[in-house]
Amino acid sequence: MPKLKITPMMQQYFKLKEQHPHTILFYRMGDFYEMFFEDAITASKILGITLTSRNKKSDSAQIPMCGIPYHALQGYLAKMVEAGKRVAICEQVEDPSTAQGIVKREVVQIVTPGVVTDNQLLDAKSNNFVTAISRGKNNRYGLSFLDITTGEFIVADFAGSDGEADILDQLTRLTPTELLVSEEELEDFAETIDLATTLIPGLCITPRPHHLFDFDQSHEKLLEHFAVISLDGFGCETLVEGQIAAAILLDYIEETQKSAIHHIEKLSRLELDAILQIDDSSRRNLELTQTIVGGNRSGSLLSVLDLTTTPMGARFLKQAILFPLQDRARILRRLNAVGYFFNNSEARHQIRELLDQVYDIERLNSRITLGSANGRDMLAMKQSLARLPEMLTELRKCDTDELIEIEQTLDTLEDLHQLLDKSIHPDPPTNIREGNLIREGYNAELDEIIVLLRDGKKLILDLEAKERERTGIAKLKVSYNRVFGYFIEVSRAQSSRVPEHYIRKQTLVNAERFITPELKEFETKVLGAEDRRLELEYQLFATVRNELASHSSRFLATAHQLALLDFYASAAEVSQQYNYHRPEIRDDGSLEIREGRHPVIERSLPAGKFVPNDVYLDQAENEILVITGPNMAGKSTVLRQTALIVLMAQMGYYVPADSARIGVVDRIFTRVGAMDDLRRGQSTFMVEMSETANILNNATPRSLVILDEIGRGTSTYDGLSIAWAVTEHLVQKDGIGVKTMFATHYHELTDLARRYARIQNYSIAVREWQKSVIFLHKLIKGGTSRSYGIQVAALAGVPAQVVERAHEILHSIESGDFLAGEKVGGQPQKELSEHKPHQPSLFAPPTDEIRTKIREMDLDELTPRQALDALYALKEMTV
Ligand code: ADP
Repeated sequence: MPKLKITPMMQQYFKLKEQHPHTILFYRMGDFYEMFFEDAITASKILGITLTSRNKKSDSAQIPMCGIPYHALQGYLAKMVEAGKRVAICEQVEDPSTAQGIVKREVVQIVTPGVVTDNQLLDAKSNNFVTAISRGKNNRYGLSFLDITTGEFIVADFAGSDGEADILDQLTRLTPTELLVSEEELEDFAETIDLATTLIPGLCITPRPHHLFDFDQSHEKLLEHFAVISLDGFGCETLVEGQIAAAILLDYIEETQKSAIHHIEKLSRLELDAILQIDDSSRRNLELTQTIVGGNRSGSLLSVLDLTTTPMGARFLKQAILFPLQDRARILRRLNAVGYFFNNSEARHQIRELLDQVYDIERLNSRITLGSANGRDMLAMKQSLARLPEMLTELRKCDTDELIEIEQTLDTLEDLHQLLDKSIHPDPPTNIREGNLIREGYNAELDEIIVLLRDGKKLILDLEAKERERTGIAKLKVSYNRVFGYFIEVSRAQSSRVPEHYIRKQTLVNAERFITPELKEFETKVLGAEDRRLELEYQLFATVRNELASHSSRFLATAHQLALLDFYASAAEVSQQYNYHRPEIRDDGSLEIREGRHPVIERSLPAGKFVPNDVYLDQAENEILVITGPNMAGKSTVLRQTALIVLMAQMGYYVPADSARIGVVDRIFTRVGAMDDLRRGQSTFMVEMSETANILNNATPRSLVILDEIGRGTSTYDGLSIAWAVTEHLVQKDGIGVKTMFATHYHELTDLARRYARIQNYSIAVREWQKSVIFLHKLIKGGTSRSYGIQVAALAGVPAQVVERAHEILHSIESGDFLAGEKVGGQPQKELSEHKPHQPSLFAPPTDEIRTKIREMDLDELTPRQALDALYALKEMTV
C-alpha cells in the first residue's frame, strides 16, 4: 500500500474493513457508495464502472476508488453477487448535518451469494442454499444446508473414506451458491472444493474462523436457537459433525443479517436411506433439472413437469425430482393425492386458480422476519392469505388421506389477514420511509394527522369563518408567513374589536397581526404533521411487521401445505395434458411398462410421432436386457425413458405410459453417453470406467442399471471384453443379479443370452429400404447382427463416394477377402491388412475353463445326481 496520510475518514474505513474480512466494502459517502484500493479495482471490473483515484494531487498517495449512486444499489449488488462476491454495506448511521466530527458509519448488512433476500437476486423456482462442511476425526464429516429465504435447514453426517465423495454428491444435488469451510481446512478440502467449484458454476467459497468449528459451542448454539434441551426432536442429537456445520451456518447468518433469524425453526436430517438415490453423473445424464449441454432448465425433465403456479410449488417439485421416494406407502399417498385432482377436473382448476393468486409466502415471510419486507410485500402477503378460506372450502370435498390431512391442518391465517387488511395501505410505495403505508382508520393519531394534512387549507378557512363570526369582523383573515407562522390579521380600524385572548404580534401601517393559543396549536400540528406522519407510519408498519414475524412458523406451515397442493394439482394437470397414467407401485423387484414414452423427447416431436415401447424387467428371466441396434435407432431413448418412468413413479407422479407396474428400486445408475467430462478433467474412457466402477461396486439387487454402451472409448477388443465381463458381473452380483438394460453395438454380446437364463436379447427394429434404413424406434425381442453404420453415415450426409467405398470395404470384410490381404476394388490395401487384429479366444470354445472344471471335480465325492448335473453344466459350457 502506498504511504499516505491517513485521514480520520480513512481510519474509519480501515477499521470497518478489518472487521469484515473477505468482503468488498460499499462505503456510504453522501449519495454514493464508494469502494477503495483492491475492492475498487475488483468492483470496477465486475460492475463496469470507471476506476478513479482519491488524492489525485499526490502521485505517491493515490488511492484507487470507484463509486455507485445509492439509489442504484440493488442492481449493482446483483452483479457482485452473481460474480460470487461478498459485499458489506456500510451506511451513515447519523445525520451528517448534526454529526460532531466524522459521521458515524456501520456495516448494516453483508450480502453474499448464499445469503440474499432480495427477489431481484433470487430464482423464484429454486432454493438458494448456503452450505457448510466440517471435518472431524476418523474420516467423519458434517454437512449442512440453509436457505434463509425459505427457512429450510438440512443437516447430515457422513463417515468413512467416501465421506468427501458423499459431500460432493449432496453439493451437486442441492447446488448451493456459497460454501463455508474452516480457514484452516481449505487445504484439506482442496480437492472437493475444486470439484465443487467446477461442477457448480459461481459457487462462492467462504473461509470461516477455525475456532467456530467446535462441537460443544455448536451444540449450545443450536439448542439456544431452537430453544430446546436436546436435538432429539429433530433426530439430530447424534450428528456430531453435522451439528458443527449447522451452527456455522447460523453464526454466519447472524453475522451477515445483523438481525434476528426466527424463521429458521427446524432442522431436518437428510435421510438418504429413505430416498431413491441417483448419483451426480446419473442426475446429469438423465437431464433431471438441467440439460447436459448448456446446463439449461429448458429441455430437462423439470421443465416438462413444471406446471406449478406458485414458487413454493416449483421449488417443491424440484426437490421431489432430486429426492424421489423409496417408501411404497409414502409414494402411494402422493399418487392418491395426484389421483384425486386427476379425476376431479373441477377441483383441480379451482385449486390451481386460487394458487395462481398466491405469492411466494415463504420468501415474503423471511423478509418479514428479517425486517426487510416493504409495503408491497405486505400487500402481496395479504392477497395471498385472502385465497386461503376458499381453498379450504374446496379441500373439504377431498376424500384421500394426504389431502384430508392438509385440509385438517391448513391454517388459513385469517387473523393475520385481518391485521394486514386493516393496517396496510391498499397501494403502498416500495420505500417504507415515504408514508402511505398505513390504511386510514387503523390508528386514531395517524388519521388525525392525515386529515390535518389533507384538509389543512379547509381547516384554516373554517377557523377564519369561526373567528369572523365570533368577533363580528367581516374582513378578519388567517394568513401565514415564515417569520410568525400562522396569524390573524385585522385592519387597524377594526383592531379594537378583537377579543382579549388575541395576542398582538405585529403592527403594520394598516393592519394588526395576532395569534391565539388555538391557532398556535393548529400550527404546531400542521407544521410537524408531515414528519410525524412519516415517522408514525413507519413505526406502525414496523409494529405490524413484528407482529407478523412472531407468527412465522404459521406462515411456513401454510406455505408448505400450499407447496404440496400445488405439486399435486400440477402433477394432475401435467398428467391430463400429456396423457400420463397412474403407475402401480409394488415391492417385488419387477418392472413392467406398457407403451412407455420419453417425457421430454415426446414433447419435442409432433403429437403422435413418438413411438411408445414396452419394457419388462424382473429378477428371473428378464433381469438383463441386451439391446442391440444401429445408432440413431432409439436405444438411448428407451433406456432413459425407463429410468425416468421409474423415477417419476417414485416421486409419486403419473407416468408417460399406458400402464406401468413399478417394483420400488433403491438406486438408479446410469452410464450413458460418451462425453469427456472436461469439467472434472477426465477423458471419455476414464469417465466411462469410473461410472462403471461405481455401478459394479454399489448396485444392489433392488437397483436399476442403465448402461448405454460400455467400452467405446478403447479398442474394440478391449471394449468388448470389458462389456462382456461387466454384464457377467451384473447377472451374478450378490447371487441375485441387478436389473439392467444394456444398449450396445457389440453384437457379440447377444451370445450372453445363450449362456445365462436371466439375460434376454432385444433390438430396435429398422426396415431396410433400397440402400437406406428406416428407424422404426420399436423395441423387439431378439438381437440383431447388423449395425447399419454406413446407412447412418449416408443419412448424416457423408459424401456418396465415401459411402459407396465403405459398402465395398464392408462387403470384402464380410466375405473374408479384405482381411486376407486381397485387393479390394482393385486398390492395394497393404496398410490396413497389416493391422489385422488378432482374434481373441473369447468366443472360441472355452476349453481351458472346461479343463479346469474337470480338474476341480472330486469324483469320489459326487453323487450320481451331482455327476449328471456336472455333465450337463459342462455341456452348457460348450454351447
Ligand atoms: P441410439 O441411442 O440408438 O443411437 P437415440 O435413442 O439417441 O438412438 O435416438 C435417436 C433419435 O431418434 C432421437 O433423438 C429421437 O429424435 C428419435 N427417437 C428415438 N426413439 C424414438 C421413439 N421411440 N419415437 C420417436 N422418435 C424416437
